[in-house]
Amino acid sequence: MDKLKMEEMVPGFVITEPGSTVRVKTADWRTFKPVIHYEKCTDCAICWVFCPEPAIEVRTDVEKGKYVINYDYCKGCGVCAHECPTKAIEMVRER
Ligand code: SF4
Ligand code: SF4
Repeated sequence: MDKLKMEEMVPGFVITEPGSTVRVKTADWRTFKPVIHYEKCTDCAICWVFCPEPAIEVRTDVEKGKYVINYDYCKGCGVCAHECPTKAIEMVRER
């Protein structure tokens, strides 16, 4: 998505359209990224529920390992790793 010029921005930076963040890749400044260790994952969906971004996607074409991180939107907040009941998500430093 092209960057907006100052005069094109809405006063107060109000979001006028639902779902608009999907068009903006928001992960540029991430320091740590979550990595799912699928041998520990039970597909419980808790990471998907708690992720504050549209960063965990659900695959419907597999039996196991349905939850996948979309690194275009993951900000590396670590909420998923904190909430995962089996500690299947490890936060690793970006390179
Ligand atoms: S919270 Fe953990 S165990 Fe549950 S789906 Fe996510 S990675 Fe897998
Ligand atoms: S680190 Fe944060 S933004 Fe990234 S997938 Fe986990 S909960 Fe979502």
